[in-house]
Amino acid sequence: MPRSPLHAATVPLGIAAATAGLVFAACKGEGPFAALLPHPTQLEITIQPNGARIGSPLGVQPIVEVHDALGRVVKDRVPVAVALASGDGHLLGTVVANAVDGVARFTDLRLMGGYGAKTLTFTAPGLPSVTADSVDLSPAVRSSIDRPDDIPGSQVHVVYVLPRGSKDRELDTRVDIANSVAAFQRWLARATRMQIRFDLYQGDLDVSFFELSRPDSEMRLFGSFVVSEIERELAGAGVIQPDKRYLIYYDGSAAALVCGGAAWPPTIGGQVAAIYLRNCPAELASRPNDSPGYWEFAALHDLLHTLGIVSSAAPHHTANSWGHVPEPEDLMYGGGTSPWEPTTVDVNGDDYFAPNLPDGLSNLATNVFMEPVSATIVAASAPVGGHPLISSILPAHPPFPKP
Ligand SMILES: [Zn+2]
Repeated sequence: MPRSPLHAATVPLGIAAATAGLVFAACKGEGPFAALLPHPTQLEITIQPNGARIGSPLGVQPIVEVHDALGRVVKDRVPVAVALASGDGHLLGTVVANAVDGVARFTDLRLMGGYGAKTLTFTAPGLPSVTADSVDLSPAVRSSIDRPDDIPGSQVHVVYVLPRGSKDRELDTRVDIANSVAAFQRWLARATRMQIRFDLYQGDLDVSFFELSRPDSEMRLFGSFVVSEIERELAGAGVIQPDKRYLIYYDGSAAALVCGGAAWPPTIGGQVAAIYLRNCPAELASRPNDSPGYWEFAALHDLLHTLGIVSSAAPHHTANSWGHVPEPEDLMYGGGTSPWEPTTVDVNGDDYFAPNLPDGLSNLATNVFMEPVSATIVAASAPVGGHPLISSILPAHPPFPKP
């Protein structure tokens, strides 16, 4: 944990300030009467911090007053410092505000770190600290563009796509999509000790927003090929970058029994996977630390297709269902009649996830869109008792048609 300015400054300033107060009083010629003047004894937060979003200053900047024992504002010039007291991340901006006429106004504080509750604490020399109400750090404001990348190179960018005129559930700016992605990343970390290289902005998942030019009633007619149509429109709008893959949370439907779709290079070209949230009944894992459910497995399954997985030359590649393997417990199951119950990434490690695979087979273990995770993350990703299994008769999507 980084050493907070709060802890660094408290002790020496406490002593210095007691002295400074006397000097100040003496300079103004108030020496004999100093004891009768209002004396600062406490801090009071008169405006609580609020409105924390990634990449932006707090929407409501805090104001702290210096009071005496009777609750009166004390007009001394007192430096009030703020620090992050709980929650991960960092507090940026001007963290010391000098009280003017007893009022310390912070102007440019902003929070970074994981989504969720953070608490700020205010201190002043010689006074007890006060703690603000907790603030929830939320995703950045809606962005129609892919924000600056934290990491260079191959990565997967996530987009919330809405058909024109459809109800906007704001899954991008609420944390639903970020939590859904985090749920399958934890599962993947436990299963493989690796995770997807997702596009991050200031440490958190960068989710952008795109509204299609056509309404759901027109889009759904593409059936299984809704994903291709979404990709075509994203490409036309200049959204698609060559070294990225795209995972689309599509808030629309499709006139077919499909819950998603994906490119499958080299046979089916493209860079996009999509899940069709209005076409299947499941709920997103939308809260922090939710277990992965149907949509999370479907999203991960379809995303792996965009990495060319499972190769058609893999030993257990299913002849009747391209891009899949036959075991219902495998993430990449497809084409069979059993319920899909994913618990494993590549049964026996011989088709698409292994230290070594024959040349020409797409290998998740060496894919540039993957990276190893630390043992700490793996341990943190394995809640006691595991997670509830999903068992679904819904395939992630129907078998790819043979070209
Ligand atoms: Zn599939």
